[in-house]
Amino acid sequence: MLVLVPSIDAGAPLSDAAAEALGAARELAQQRRCDVACALIGPNLAAATADAAQLGADTVLTATGHALDGDARVSIAANAVAQAQARVVLLPRGPHLLELAPRLAARTGGASVIGVTDIRHVDNDVHAIAAVFGGAARAQYAFRASGPRVIGLAPAVAAPPDRDPARTATTIELAIPQPTGRVTTLEPAAASSGPRLENAKLIVSGGRGLQDGENYALIRELADGLGGMTGASRAIVDDGWASFEQQVGLTGKIVTPDVYFAIGISGASQHMAGCATARCIVAVNTDPDAPIFKFADYGIVDDALEVLPELVRLARERA
Ligand SMILES: Cc1cc2nc3c(=O)[nH]c(=O)nc-3n(C[C@H](O)[C@H](O)[C@H](O)COP(=O)(O)OP(=O)(O)OC[C@H]3O[C@@H](n4cnc5c(N)ncnc54)[C@H](O)[C@@H]3O)c2cc1C
Repeated sequence: MLVLVPSIDAGAPLSDAAAEALGAARELAQQRRCDVACALIGPNLAAATADAAQLGADTVLTATGHALDGDARVSIAANAVAQAQARVVLLPRGPHLLELAPRLAARTGGASVIGVTDIRHVDNDVHAIAAVFGGAARAQYAFRASGPRVIGLAPAVAAPPDRDPARTATTIELAIPQPTGRVTTLEPAAASSGPRLENAKLIVSGGRGLQDGENYALIRELADGLGGMTGASRAIVDDGWASFEQQVGLTGKIVTPDVYFAIGISGASQHMAGCATARCIVAVNTDPDAPIFKFADYGIVDDALEVLPELVRLARERA
């Protein structure tokens, strides 16, 4: 039985998302006593193939092609599932996931769950855990379909494995299907540039406890002083104090920083759905019973407008 990690438009080194998926695959493979296969789709795969092997793939299936459309990706992924005889398919988080997961499951007679935060090995099968009801609860899904269990991963499900430079993998070349003509690419979407909140190691986020949009400047100052990025709750994005790009949560970005400052943020489940996996959460809130303190590693019960200037001063002093 094999675990398959199809990475899309793969380059080298593989993306954090693909490395995390390989980490999850290795953990699962140990429990299920099976191999890990990794399918790579992209224009230039030699270096990515070596990287996948070093990260723990036993077999690497490659489909070398450029600007392949969704139909082609589904066909290649279905072919990879068949070649690898994959019972479990782990899909790294990313823009193609929403389309690929259900289509691949339908094509292969399987079933899919996306946004999966944990995978459990139960009775020689897998169960997938994912958030439901806007992040207020978690559901455990058992699969009834006879085909592959297609699991779309949420961020930070597993740590990327350590690279082993001596590791190699068996490689198999997959055929590129003929275009079906059902999809026409008008123009490739421009890749966004600049640092991404999803990759930030330190985030300072503000919420309605800041009282006024002008006070968001203190969030920027602290983030600058600590070399981090700024985030926001939806409440203040809706109020126009911060931009949607900064929104953390269920309907915003899912972030996994080492340190997450939640300043004047209540800790609603929809916000925590975006940041609960941060390694360390520091909360500042006047209400000692605010839900954020259930998640916080460090908490300051005080007025954000008193605490922030002091934190900014300390950050500058130590910079
Ligand atoms: C379908 C759906 C999707 C959603 N998606 C998201 C999402 O992606 N992201 C998101 O953030 N929210 C989301 N929400 C909204 C979410 O439910 C909350 O309403 C929102 O997160 C609250 O933002 P807040 O904590 O800034 O504001 P509030 O809930 O108003 O909390 C403000 C906090 O500041 C504290 N405070 C007040 N004064 C001070 C002070 N002077 N100093 C320090 N603390 C102070 C208060 O005690 C309080 O805890 C969603 C809601 C729904 C229904």
